[in-house]
Amino acid sequence: MTLARELFETDLTFHCPGCETAVVRKGSWIKSAKVFICDACNTQTRLTYGLKLAIFDAHLHRDAPPGLPATRGQSRR
Ligand SMILES: [Zn+2]
Repeated sequence: MTLARELFETDLTFHCPGCETAVVRKGSWIKSAKVFICDACNTQTRLTYGLKLAIFDAHLHRDAPPGLPATRGQSRR
């Protein structure tokens, strides 16, 4: 599993573990960053590979716009 290249130019959102503030960064920033320091609460977060994967993953599975049923090729649960 690797970081999806198609998200490098995309704004990705994650939440500061210290204060829950929503943070927006480009995928390429997330890929190369080692540490995130929150502007709001100064919490230092180590951006581990697993954490980066989770951030990317959350965006990859957010394709379907809210309110529209994603039925294409998917069976109903
Ligand atoms: Zn914070």
